[in-house]
Amino acid sequence: MICPPSRIATLGHLDKFLPIVGLYARDRNHVKPGHSSVSRLSPAIRHRLITEEEVVAAVLQFHPFGRVEKFIQEVYWRRYWKSWLALRPEVWIDYLKSLTDMVEDPAIRRIEDSRSGNAVIDHFANELVTTGYLHNHARMWFAAWWVHEARLPWQAGAAFFYRHLLDGDPASNTLSWRWVAGLQTPGKTYLARRSNLEKYMAPELLDSLSNGLGEFEKPQALQPDLIFKPPITRPDWPLEILDLSKTTGLWIHEEDLSVENSVLASHSFSAVLVTADAESWEHHRFPVAKKQWLSDALQDATTRAERHWKVPTILENLSPHADALLRWAKSNNLQQVAALRPEVGPLNDSLTALRATLSQAGICLILIDRPEDLKIRHFATGGFFQFWERLRKSLVIVSTVSAATAPQQLWMDLPR
Ligand SMILES: Cc1cc2nc3c(=O)[nH]c(=O)nc-3n(C[C@H](O)[C@H](O)[C@H](O)COP(=O)(O)OP(=O)(O)OC[C@H]3O[C@@H](n4cnc5c(N)ncnc54)[C@H](O)[C@@H]3O)c2cc1C
Repeated sequence: MICPPSRIATLGHLDKFLPIVGLYARDRNHVKPGHSSVSRLSPAIRHRLITEEEVVAAVLQFHPFGRVEKFIQEVYWRRYWKSWLALRPEVWIDYLKSLTDMVEDPAIRRIEDSRSGNAVIDHFANELVTTGYLHNHARMWFAAWWVHEARLPWQAGAAFFYRHLLDGDPASNTLSWRWVAGLQTPGKTYLARRSNLEKYMAPELLDSLSNGLGEFEKPQALQPDLIFKPPITRPDWPLEILDLSKTTGLWIHEEDLSVENSVLASHSFSAVLVTADAESWEHHRFPVAKKQWLSDALQDATTRAERHWKVPTILENLSPHADALLRWAKSNNLQQVAALRPEVGPLNDSLTALRATLSQAGICLILIDRPEDLKIRHFATGGFFQFWERLRKSLVIVSTVSAATAPQQLWMDLPR
């Protein structure tokens, strides 16, 4: 049911979903066993086994833009959140700090163990822990109940989701929880109402969970104490350029697992290293199933990289990635290591120390952005719909050409 941890299987999964995308706007809010009205592609998109552009190009080869605009908009919610956080990285740092300062609360433990006493919440906590996935509406209901009914810190709820979701993402997760808590759009909280659950939950779920609905009868918003609009503190990134005269290795990490479909595809490398951010997996207490999914996805990226670059390629998923990188760079006599830039999140947090370690050994780390990400990052200075309007102008180019003119090549007028 959940998106498989390989690129080829993800493409197959997307293919099967393509006919259903036409019904997405009508059916996407319904929470039903199996989740067949939504794509369940999020773990693959999150770790870039497939990119947003590839998903949207495939959809537009199958449907006219007008019929699938809602789906494309949702796909770009993810890029909006990522771009928004990239411009304001302190929001992530503050979130991590508040987790460090938090004291253990047995009420949180009970909810996470599906013992909250509310049948709806226990059902979704159990689904999250056992499958690594929750439907968007279930995430919203769960988070709203956590913040406004149980009155627990949103950060602890976000940490629970981040730990278990296979698509757990520093931007989409942290900012969605902030949105529910009324921090993201000042003055707007999200409340889960009984009528909404009754409208969108499948009858078989409603029947078995009905005694949990009472707590959704008259939700009262918990207003945040302090509403503060985070400023843009990082409007630009220094452009890093590969020195083609240096012996260079490629580093592939779990933030982007299809590097052979990026601007780095045509470069030559002496060696390739694929690493897991195992320290952060432990720090955030990822469960075994999630570690397995990530390990399989990393193995898949390793196989594809070896086939593409045809140089020695190894996967290191146990030792800390800084140690693994240094050992590998030295043993291959590298002068330079290239990678796609990890966006805000645990891996990005480790970059300063990593650069220092490599530079002590005379090796420089060069981080390259995907041009398609760079181009739209600056659209996220305001709200989503402002972002979408700016982005949409590039998207409609595709909808006005016939299928015979290979829309993929015209996609967004972006350098590839
Ligand atoms: C409290 C909360 C926490 C969330 N945490 C995460 C998270 O950690 N990682 C994550 O990828 N999404 C997160 N989301 C957004 C959304 O719920 C999931 O992306 C979506 O449910 C994934 O299922 P799907 O692939 O079947 O989505 P579909 O409905 O099929 O959508 C297709 C793709 O669009 C993107 N997308 C859809 N809706 C959203 C959205 N609201 N925000 C951002 N991207 C979206 C995803 O990449 C998704 O795979 C969160 C939402 C809430 C309310």
